[in-house]
Amino acid sequence: MSPVDLGLPRVPGAAAPASVTLPADRPATGGLVDRYGRVATDLRVSLTDRCNLRCTYCMPADGLPSLAREKVMSRAEIARLVGVATRELGVQQVRFTGGEPLLRKDLVEIVADVAALEHRPEISLTTNAVGLESRARALREAGLDRVNVSLDTLDPDTFATLARRPFLERTLAGIDAAAREFDLVKINAVLVRGVNLDHAAELLAWCLERGFELRFIEQMPLDADHTWDRSAMVTAAEVRGLIGERFALAPDVEPRDGAPAERFEVRSRATGDRLGRVGIIASVTEPFCGDCRRTRLTAEGGVRDCLFAHTESDLLGPLRAGASDAVLADLWRTAMWGKGAGHGMDDPSFTQPDRTMSAIGG
Ligand code: SAM
Ligand code: SF4
Repeated sequence: MSPVDLGLPRVPGAAAPASVTLPADRPATGGLVDRYGRVATDLRVSLTDRCNLRCTYCMPADGLPSLAREKVMSRAEIARLVGVATRELGVQQVRFTGGEPLLRKDLVEIVADVAALEHRPEISLTTNAVGLESRARALREAGLDRVNVSLDTLDPDTFATLARRPFLERTLAGIDAAAREFDLVKINAVLVRGVNLDHAAELLAWCLERGFELRFIEQMPLDADHTWDRSAMVTAAEVRGLIGERFALAPDVEPRDGAPAERFEVRSRATGDRLGRVGIIASVTEPFCGDCRRTRLTAEGGVRDCLFAHTESDLLGPLRAGASDAVLADLWRTAMWGKGAGHGMDDPSFTQPDRTMSAIGG
């Protein structure tokens, strides 16, 4: 039997993992394969745990204690680990997230470093867009390919209620700048009953008019306040019904191909004209774990094989202690080899991870 079934334990400061018992059946070469045959090619990198908003479904009102600066991956460490992922492990897409990645003063340089890698991945950013207005062009010029902006409502008061900050104008200015610089802007929205559920169709209309692809994300139990309640959350089926009252939805003709969002073509109910697309990410009610292609790096350089994982495998400690790329790749492979079959939210033994979405990197 394998001594490590759920990922590799932390390697405190070790340069090489000689002291760690690695599972004998793990792959010694190749990509990030797990025991269920899934291959992770899509890397999420959290650049910081800090944020300038306090979205109720993600962070507590008073924020969380920030990581000490020296615990967070530096620009050079990010480039090194992403390089290992793309060169040794077959990662093809890299998305920078957080916390709020725009809070990194060196974000443009980080993007440029990754764009300069020999095995250059597709590079994208998930952001609340506060401050994007002044940096969108530099980010595009540095090599950023795509931007996803989180926007839950167009109403300033509701925005301030959900994000606990009155920054709607700044987010909208950031979205405008993104639209000028990037061909495709995606908007992420989380619907919360009694707060912005009624805004869903209006938000979709606004996105369609501007050529943005809106994706509704089911709220997951990753909030700091632990107030998530399955019976109260807004489900994908409910969203389909709600927006279907105003728009005609048809399954998208393009294959889903492992994408988390189920996509629909949106047409006008009056004229039948095609207006664009919408996606719904039903992580809770229609999980897609069987097709998951994700691997994650926390801001502290820990590999998480799933948003809901309870363990992480430290790469930053070994990197700082002098581990070679081959050793780092082996540690990463081993971590992903232990990925569970699914997030297990329907299992009575399911427990919410200690980390919130902001601290994992959404
Ligand atoms: N700060 C950036 C932002 O908001 O886009 C990036 C980090 S944020 C954690 C990434 C995405 O996670 C956002 O689209 C946000 O709406 C989503 N998110 C946060 N908490 C969530 C939760 N509990 N359930 C579902 N999605 C969540
Ligand atoms: Fe910050 Fe993004 Fe979390 Fe909102 S969802 S609190 S913007 S990290």
